[in-house]
Amino acid sequence: MSKILVIGAGGVGTVVVHKLAQNPDVFTQIMLASRTKPKCDAIADDVKKRYGVTVETAQVDADKVPDLVALFKKFQPKLVINVALPYQDLTIMDACLETDVNYLDTANYEPKDEARFEYSWQWAYQDKFKKAGLTAILGCGFDPGVTSVFTAYAAKHHFDEIHCLDIVDCNAGDHHHAFATNFNPEINIREITQEGKYYENGEWKIIDALTVHQPVHYPNIGEKESYLLYHEELESLVKNFPALKRARFWMTFGQEYLTHLRVIQNIGMARIDEIDYNGQKIVPIQFLKAVLPNPQDLGANYTGWTSIGCRISGVKDGQSKTYYIYNNCSHQAAYKETSTQGVSYTTGVPAMTGAYMFLIGQWGGAGVFNVEEFNPDPFLEKLAMSGLPWHQIIDGDLEF
Ligand code: NDP
Repeated sequence: MSKILVIGAGGVGTVVVHKLAQNPDVFTQIMLASRTKPKCDAIADDVKKRYGVTVETAQVDADKVPDLVALFKKFQPKLVINVALPYQDLTIMDACLETDVNYLDTANYEPKDEARFEYSWQWAYQDKFKKAGLTAILGCGFDPGVTSVFTAYAAKHHFDEIHCLDIVDCNAGDHHHAFATNFNPEINIREITQEGKYYENGEWKIIDALTVHQPVHYPNIGEKESYLLYHEELESLVKNFPALKRARFWMTFGQEYLTHLRVIQNIGMARIDEIDYNGQKIVPIQFLKAVLPNPQDLGANYTGWTSIGCRISGVKDGQSKTYYIYNNCSHQAAYKETSTQGVSYTTGVPAMTGAYMFLIGQWGGAGVFNVEEFNPDPFLEKLAMSGLPWHQIIDGDLEF
């Protein structure tokens, strides 16, 4: 019997809970806790109607370790899936250590007052988790997450050495809003407006945000303008696959999106510092989140597909080789199954899959792990059965 606690009742949390409920043999007791309990109750009601599975719900402020500790002691989960915001990663990890609970998340820690994400804060927990005999699984969404497992799978089955990695992330969907973000707007805008960064020949190269771009061909979608960004999995992949000579991350954006983003920045609405508004302190980007469409509500009218994958080149048996592994996901199919859009779906399914791997004993060990450190085979097998089938092209043309 495995009790599992999900923290965060947003788009990703919704998918995670649906997927847990679809696997009652492994996830025998589920609790969903978040800042706003009515959101948890609404998700639990939907899951009950669809699968007849009961999901317990609770209110928790995940910024407060004592509140988390009290909840963990009461429910006694084997594993916590953290799909709240990256700001809560460390408090939840602290509470896990205090109560002997294992940990999994989908995004690395980021301080609220500094738009800078890196693994150093969470890797610093290595000794504590090791000593406690607990497992912390970092970055188990799609990117990071599946992209990292794709890379591990390529390294295991197709290459002696991986030399070049391009992670290509396309959202070719249309939500029919002038401007909306596909996951938490605050986190999304902070990520995209940072300077770009990629790895080449042993060093990190920095570029101004969104200044390097080119058309990339995506399977069954076609060419889409794709922008070079820094993305967190590059940091751990470069460390775990030291033969890499170059590692980059590309994401598609439409012109309309970029124009809105530029205006938002130019008028100061992307600011993350506090300002005084009529005697009240507000953070502009948090205020912006309150007026933008809620990513969770985009699903009903979302059409089109996402396509995310890894384009890899390297050598096998002394010969040059290329390999492309990817998933395409339909926004409409995701909505039909879970009432959310494809971006939440492609994040929530891998989070459930990682939890499943841990609970059946395929993934584990004492310490803090990035997902590419585990066996990719059972994860990718379960992922494909859980709504995210993947495809591979061996020795295709990887020129953009
Ligand atoms: P949402 O903003 O939709 O949901 C976040 C949830 O966390 C909300 O329910 C929110 O509560 C809750 N929350 C926020 N702060 C607290 C707190 N202090 N205590 C308790 N609950 C809190 O985000 P998404 O569902 O879109 O994203 C969830 C996570 O997934 C993020 O960390 C995001 O970065 C990550 N992600 C990862 C991806 C990947 O591929 N690896 C891709 C997309 C997202 P409330 O409802 O009250 O606001």
